[in-house]
Amino acid sequence: MRPWNFSAGPSALPLEVLQQAAAEMTDWRGCGMSVMEMSHRGKQFTQIRDEAEADLRELLAVPDDYEVLFMQGGATAENAIVPLNLIGRGGAGKADYVLSGIWSNKSHKEAQRYGDIAVAASSGAEKVLDGVKQAPWTWFPAANSWQPRPDASYLHLCSNETIGGVEFVSWPDMAALGAPDVPLVVDASSHFLSRPIDFSKAAMVYAGAQKNAGPAGVTIVIVRRDLLGHALAVCPSAFDYANVAGASSMFNTPPTYAIYIAGLVFKWLLRQGGVAAIEQANIAKSQALYACLDGSGLYRSPVHAAVRSRMNVPFFLHDEALNSEFLAQAEAAGLMQLKGHKSVGGMRASIYNAVPLEGVQALISFMQDFEHRHG
Ligand SMILES: *Cc1c(COP(=O)(O)O)cnc(C)c1O
Repeated sequence: MRPWNFSAGPSALPLEVLQQAAAEMTDWRGCGMSVMEMSHRGKQFTQIRDEAEADLRELLAVPDDYEVLFMQGGATAENAIVPLNLIGRGGAGKADYVLSGIWSNKSHKEAQRYGDIAVAASSGAEKVLDGVKQAPWTWFPAANSWQPRPDASYLHLCSNETIGGVEFVSWPDMAALGAPDVPLVVDASSHFLSRPIDFSKAAMVYAGAQKNAGPAGVTIVIVRRDLLGHALAVCPSAFDYANVAGASSMFNTPPTYAIYIAGLVFKWLLRQGGVAAIEQANIAKSQALYACLDGSGLYRSPVHAAVRSRMNVPFFLHDEALNSEFLAQAEAAGLMQLKGHKSVGGMRASIYNAVPLEGVQALISFMQDFEHRHG
């Protein structure tokens, strides 16, 4: 049996997808070529791309007035590509950011190169919530506390902070925040396809594929069509959403193999019963793991209970001297890549779509056993 893989990204892919890719590696469906060897403009790859888009639209019920783009550069490149495309909208050259952890802070920092950037809300301070003192970046600012500027060209949010393990899905109606014309732009990289997306709230959602949707190399951008066509003159042509949309993501050579694998993941998700079904599985997995943490004398979750991520679960051992023993024994038990991000320390279990309940149960059994031996 393969070990269980809790990597935060690049991360576990469904075994069925890997097996199908292996079977098709040298000869895709009798055409005599690997997908890696095909022209991106040929009929085989055109079919692969078109099916990937159609399946993704079905999975997320993407409205017809949104474009689906397959881009490159990861979510990090989007930190620049978003302002390059959107900050020129409306002419004020302003954009606002909600700061909730490492990824949103990076987005905010990069955007400062392109205009007048403000912080609409931040969780970068200690706060007492439900009687518990929460450390910075372990909670999420309630939407009714955000202060977007009504003339901002967009408001940026990271809806799942992969490192901090904070997930926020109660996206506000911007009109209720006094900013009806400000589109919400969401970095959903690390929980993309783990649950439905409310496109009535978000004008744009983007995700690097390598967390939950495929391999590294493709970035998925879903953007409302009226946001296109406002790119700054300095925006690289290949990063102008209008160009990419106009060419069906073939403005230049797209990351063909990554799109193919992401497409196989989409088909796998449809076979699982779609996003609604995978969401139920993700609820069961995350509840089991948080119950293990909360019921333990050795482990603890640092994150405010109301915004704990279903995908990325950071946790600490009360006795940090046991960290390396914990990791070594976990690995020996077939539980891989549990070390926490260096900026946070401790452990992190990323339990993306491709990690089944069985894998989470194996982790929980190991953790309980480890606690008995060290409690
Ligand atoms: C991983 C991640 C990024 C950065 O992705 P890259 O592909 O390395 O650019 C940005 N935002 C979030 C939420 C992430 O999880």
